[in-house]
Amino acid sequence: MSTVTSVNPYSGEEIASFKTHTKSEISEILESANERFLSWRTTSFSERKKLMLAAASELKKNKKEYAGMMTQEIGKPITQSLAEVEKCAWVCEFYANEAENQLANELIETDAQKSYTSYEPLGVVLAVMPWNYPFWQVFRFAAPALMAGNIGVLKHASNVFGSALNIEKVFTRAGFPEHCFTTLLAKSDAVEAIIENPIVKAVTLTGSGPAGAAVAATAGQHIKKSVLELGGNNALVVLEDCDIDATVATCVQARYQNTGQSCIAGKRLLVAEGIADMFTEKLVQQVRELKSGDPLDESTYIGTMAREDLAEELEEQINQSVAKGAKLLLGGKRQGAYLEPTILSEVTPEMTVFKEETFGPALSITTFKTVDEAIALSNNSKFGLGVSVFSQDISAIEKLVYKFDEGAVFVNELVKSDPRLPFGGIKASGYGRELSKHGIQEFMNRKTVYIK
Ligand code: NAP
Repeated sequence: MSTVTSVNPYSGEEIASFKTHTKSEISEILESANERFLSWRTTSFSERKKLMLAAASELKKNKKEYAGMMTQEIGKPITQSLAEVEKCAWVCEFYANEAENQLANELIETDAQKSYTSYEPLGVVLAVMPWNYPFWQVFRFAAPALMAGNIGVLKHASNVFGSALNIEKVFTRAGFPEHCFTTLLAKSDAVEAIIENPIVKAVTLTGSGPAGAAVAATAGQHIKKSVLELGGNNALVVLEDCDIDATVATCVQARYQNTGQSCIAGKRLLVAEGIADMFTEKLVQQVRELKSGDPLDESTYIGTMAREDLAEELEEQINQSVAKGAKLLLGGKRQGAYLEPTILSEVTPEMTVFKEETFGPALSITTFKTVDEAIALSNNSKFGLGVSVFSQDISAIEKLVYKFDEGAVFVNELVKSDPRLPFGGIKASGYGRELSKHGIQEFMNRKTVYIK
């Protein structure tokens, strides 16, 4: 057992201290979760639906409480925290209404009298989650998992234990039976043993590459299914014929919402040479107007980063790139966990801000001459989470979609998650999918039934 203290990155004040669960407490929680699975798997979709809709209502009813904790823990502007809680209610409602259809038996004609695939839950699934969307990352796993008859056990990031306990509270207040969803207060060094426990049937991780590799290695050793949602270095590909004003506004949101701390943020702006100057000028102007300040103030758009060390890391990535010839057009200065909204131009693929994921409010700009060059630059990344392409010639763009090595291509829109659409990456961005019917089917036994 050890103690984890969470600190408000804006005020520097201590929020709370948490005692982590001991090994034997973790074992007991897993035992109880497993026992719960035996009854939970037999509940009907309509029973689960009632509870999941109650969870959605609870989120809406007490959104200020839940949002307030997220803002305290990671410095996220309060209006964005409230929107995050509301989005969680949406994913609960979506799966409450869709799960039964998504998991219906699939009849397959063979020489049998009857043959089909049925979807059956696996049991206890471990979710290892990041701090950047403390509620959303968890709910997009938990809503489908519980509707499918699985049991969720959460190991949240160590700086958001308050939110982790609040998530458990949402399900308790909604009336879910005990141990359908439990929060483990555990640090990353406890994860290996949790995966090794025979009760845990599968694991999903959203987070960085090294964490994903460690979790997948342990899961692989024990032949357990894993889903990995890892980093991204999305490009915003701005073609000459785009609607410039609309594109500037979308790119600003794509990069700076959540103070830039999003896996699917547009991090590398690739803009056609012919419009680069005009586009950059408008962009700098809009980013300069983004209001930084107290995350609890409703007019704040840019908060602090979640921890001071993360802001230091980003500052270092910016400094390294400037030393290699990138031009600092805006921002670049850091104070504690706050880093000014930053724009770098004349960025080349050799520079740190192009090669590495920048997890904060810093945008890099690179120009291109041809569409082929833009696609090559976009694909010049170890990640493959998503890309946004901006052009008014939609039919021409659709013909190019296959050339992007990405899990998602969004045209004239920022890459965003939507319960109705599958979400996930390729390459170093991970494997497997969340959301939509693809997400709910990940942790299921697709049982073949053959009746002669
Ligand atoms: P992180 O350091 O990888 O942490 C994520 C989770 O993994 C935390 O709960 C962490 O626990 C745990 N963890 C860390 N190292 C581990 C290990 N060796 N074994 C087992 N568990 C381990 O990531 P983060 O800093 O919280 O989040 C930022 C990263 O997440 C970025 O790379 C971002 O792109 C990615 N992300 C991806 C998506 C997506 O959907 N693709 C969404 C959001 C974020 P502790 O906190 O206790 O260390």
